[in-house]
Amino acid sequence: MKIIDKFLKNPNKTLFSIEVLPPLKGKKITDLFEVIEPLIEFSPAFIDVTYHPEEVLYKRREDGLIEEIPLRKRPGTVGICAAISYKFNVETVPHLVCVGFSKEETEDALFSLYYQGIENILLLQGDKKNNLVVKSNEHTYASDLVKQVNEMNSGRFLHEETENELQTDFCIGVAGYPEKHFEAPNFNTDLKHLKQKVENGADYIVTQMFFENKKYFDFVQKCRDIGIQVPIIPGLKPIDSKRQLTLLPSKFHVDIPDELTNALEKAKNKSQVEQIGMEWCIQQSIELKKAGVPCLHYYTMSKSKIVAQIAKSVF
Ligand code: FAD
Repeated sequence: MKIIDKFLKNPNKTLFSIEVLPPLKGKKITDLFEVIEPLIEFSPAFIDVTYHPEEVLYKRREDGLIEEIPLRKRPGTVGICAAISYKFNVETVPHLVCVGFSKEETEDALFSLYYQGIENILLLQGDKKNNLVVKSNEHTYASDLVKQVNEMNSGRFLHEETENELQTDFCIGVAGYPEKHFEAPNFNTDLKHLKQKVENGADYIVTQMFFENKKYFDFVQKCRDIGIQVPIIPGLKPIDSKRQLTLLPSKFHVDIPDELTNALEKAKNKSQVEQIGMEWCIQQSIELKKAGVPCLHYYTMSKSKIVAQIAKSVF
């Protein structure tokens, strides 16, 4: 079922959803199942599965020459979606990125997803790390990728040689940033680009994590003010280590408020840190739910114990 239809079917309910990462290459899929298992009792409306673009490693050989090794650390997004759906009978949402995909490869991937019965996808530019493998005709921005999927949804494909007996019917999600995307020159420009994604066919928005609800509420208001009407799903992450006080701001470009920072700094051990992070996230969740958000989306980062405790308190 399409995610937007789930929202329409449950207009007065806040749904629960999660994001998981594919296992590291060589690790067992059962590790991922163990992350998901404790959350199934809360009936996730959908499970997002992240995509990790190919990187290149350079390794010195015995003869002194440098060998280039293409490597995807977490492969298998599409297969993993199928495995999760099969095991838990739950809607899965693969992430698809611009980075590393030619337009033709994107089209092929979309056909595979369509034939597999996937109805929902989250379209992103993709994290731009060093050593990424790029394609000469890949999309630059997520809005271009949205446009391509929207064309496919209208039965128009890249090349006229492709049979056109079908049109896909994907429900399209995109990312939004309550604290601005780090590359955007300013907030309004970023919002304009977000609006472009919606005008190109995005059905809903999932936000980057944030630790002050005011940021989300202001963001939603600004989106509405410029005519973005689609559902905006808040993304939440419980902090579970002191290291994340610097890691999350540097990786995700988000602020951690004074009150939370001070409390975490004072924590004497790991379990106190987890307790503080969890309680903060519960308070955020309760307030957002009261405000009637369509769904609360939790970034598990391969850990579910704390998210399960949050879900128990909130749903
Ligand atoms: P875009 O919407 O393309 O925007 C990127 C930047 O370009 C912004 O600053 C925007 O303002 C600007 N911009 C957009 N259009 C234009 C234009 N026409 N002209 C000039 N500037 C423009 N990364 C992964 O690699 N894999 C994942 O699975 C993944 N999942 C994510 C899930 C969520 C919910 C979120 C919030 C992020 C995720 N990311 C993932 C990270 C994401 O790929 C990065 O944040 C990336 O830097 C931006 O992605 P985007 O889709 O928002 O980009």
